[in-house]
Amino acid sequence: MKTAEARKLLGVGRDATPHAIKKAFRHLAMLWHPDRNPAPEAHEMFARLSAACDLLLEPFESARTDDESASPTGKTESHGADRNQDIELDIEQLCLGGKAEAVLESARECVECEGQGTQEHGHSQLCTQCQGSGRVRHGKNLNHCEDCDGRGYSKRTRCLSCRGSGRQISRRVLTVTIPPGVLPGDELRLKGEGYAPPSGKGRSGDLHLRIQLRPHPLYTLEDSDILLDRPVSVFILLGGGNISVPSPTGPRDLDIEPGSATSREQDIPGAGIPARGKRAAGKLRVRLVPVLPVTSTPELIKLYRTLQTKIGQAEADVFPELSAWEQRWVPGSKV
Ligand SMILES: [Zn+2]
Ligand SMILES: [Zn+2]
Repeated sequence: MKTAEARKLLGVGRDATPHAIKKAFRHLAMLWHPDRNPAPEAHEMFARLSAACDLLLEPFESARTDDESASPTGKTESHGADRNQDIELDIEQLCLGGKAEAVLESARECVECEGQGTQEHGHSQLCTQCQGSGRVRHGKNLNHCEDCDGRGYSKRTRCLSCRGSGRQISRRVLTVTIPPGVLPGDELRLKGEGYAPPSGKGRSGDLHLRIQLRPHPLYTLEDSDILLDRPVSVFILLGGGNISVPSPTGPRDLDIEPGSATSREQDIPGAGIPARGKRAAGKLRVRLVPVLPVTSTPELIKLYRTLQTKIGQAEADVFPELSAWEQRWVPGSKV
C-alpha cells in the first residue's frame, strides 16, 4: 500500500498528526471491525485500515524512538482496541466450569504481496488464476480471466500466499478458565488478550468473550433453570414412586407423589445452573411425560380387569372425561 492510498483510506491530510491518524483509524475501525460489521468485506477492509494506520504512523514511530534515545522520559503509549467474540459452551461447562478453548482469528496484511493481492514478476508467468487457460469457471460458465486478460500468462499474478485477498489470517488458540455458574449472554473479560496497539507499543486491548450455549439433545435453559422431559410409567405417576433423573452434573433422585396420569412438572431446587455473584442457583425442572404400557401378560391382564372392577362406581371421579362422554352418547349403559 502506498502512503497516498493510506491517507485516502483513512481520510486524513498530508499534515495529519499521529493523534489525528489514530482518531480517524478508530472511527473507521468501529465501522469495519469484523466483530461489529457482518459484511463479507469487513475482514479485508479492517485489515486494510490497520495497514494504512501502521504505514502512516511509521515515520512518527521512528522519530519517537530517536527522541526517546535522546530523552527517555517522554513515553507516549497507545492502547489496543478491545475485542468481542463468542464462545460456545456445553451446559456441563456452565454448571461445572473448567477449561475451554477460544480460537482468535486475526487478519494481517500479507507479507508476500504487502497487501496488494498480486505479485509482480520480471517476466511473464503462468496465470495463477486460470492456470494458463485464459478462462475461469463460474458455476457452469467459462469466463474470460481478468487476471491475465485472457492471455494465460502475465507479469502480475495473483498472490498465492493470500490467494489475492491481500491479507493473511492467523489463528491463536487461547485456553480460558470458565467459572461455574455462567449463563448464555454473560461476558468474560480477559485483560490484554484483545487487539495489539496500532503502534506496536503500549498495552493490548481486552478480550470480551460472550457465552453461547451449545444446543443439547436433552436439556434446555430458562434463565438459571434447566428443563428436561422425563418419560415415566403411567403407574408411577398414579401411584407415586422414586425415579432417577439425569442432570448435567449427574443423576438425581426424584420422589413422585401419587397424582394424575397427565404430564406435570416437578422441580429439584438448586440442581439448575449453580449460583454466581448475586445470581441464585436455578432449579432442575423435570417435565414428567406419561408413558402407557404397550404389551401385556396374562397375569397383568388379570390385574387390569380387577382394577377396572374396583374402580367401578368411582369411575366418575377417576375418569371424569370418559364418564361425561358415556353419559352423553351411551346414557344408561353399563360399561
Ligand atoms: Zn499476498
Ligand atoms: Zn488468467
